[in-house]
Formats: sequence, C-alpha cells, structure tokens
Amino acid sequence: MTAVLVLNADLGPLHRVSLRHAIRMLLREVAVVHEAEPDRLIGVYPLPRVVRLVSYVVTRWRFSGGPAWSRAGVHARDGRRCGYCGAEATTIDHILPRSRGGRNSWKNTVAACTGCNQRKGDRTPAEAGMVLRVKPSIPTWGALVQR
Ligand SMILES: [Zn+2]
Repeated sequence: MTAVLVLNADLGPLHRVSLRHAIRMLLREVAVVHEAEPDRLIGVYPLPRVVRLVSYVVTRWRFSGGPAWSRAGVHARDGRRCGYCGAEATTIDHILPRSRGGRNSWKNTVAACTGCNQRKGDRTPAEAGMVLRVKPSIPTWGALVQR
C-alpha cells in the first residue's frame, strides 16, 4: 500500500502513514492534501502523496528524555572541567549529595576535581560556601558526540 508522508502544520515532516490512514485523516479534516498524484484518483480526489496537519502537533517525543545519565557523559558535557574551580575534573560531584537523596541525574551532577569534591563533602554548595560556575543541564546527543 502506498505510504503517505505526513507534514506538521509548519511543514516539518512527521512520519509516513498508510494511504488508508491518510484518507481517514482527510475525512476527519485533521489534515489537508499538500501534494497529490494528479493522474491517480481515489473516487473524485487525486491520490494524496503528502498530507499536512491542519493544526500544529507538538512532537514531544523528539525532545523528551535525552541521553541516559552517565559519569562519562557528565564529564563530556562539562568539558572535563571542575564545575567549581575550573581545574581538570577527575570525579563527579552530586550537588545534592547522594547520602541525602541526591540522584544520578544530569541536573544533580557536575564534573569536579578531587579537591573541590572533598572540600564539599556531604554538603550542598551553599552549605559549603562554594559557587557553581555552570548550570547543569540535560545535554543533547549532539553535544555529547562532538566532544
Ligand atoms: Zn575544583
């Protein structure tokens, strides 16, 4: 069966669906024909090759999650620099210490040098009087691969 390309309302390609599914979308008026095969008719309509959604669909799956957390990933994200002093990082610091429920997550971990890690110990940066130079974020796949 001919596959039909579905475009988002901003013309970004989403996925392919079967012709039957595409026609159902046209009948439900959630999509319109964007490109058709002029010489092939279905009933009175030209055979759709590309359909376009009428309203924009947020493709949350594209942005959700991100790469799974790993120590190597934290080092790559932070450029192997200590989040506190900028020296070469050799360890990972949990901003909220693990002993106090801090998790292995992108936002709770930064690359750190041994000195800063020991100085901070089982305290938060505020308690230890230490300032984070970086704001830990969830990296994109691209950011991890580039380094
Ligand atoms: Zn340091």
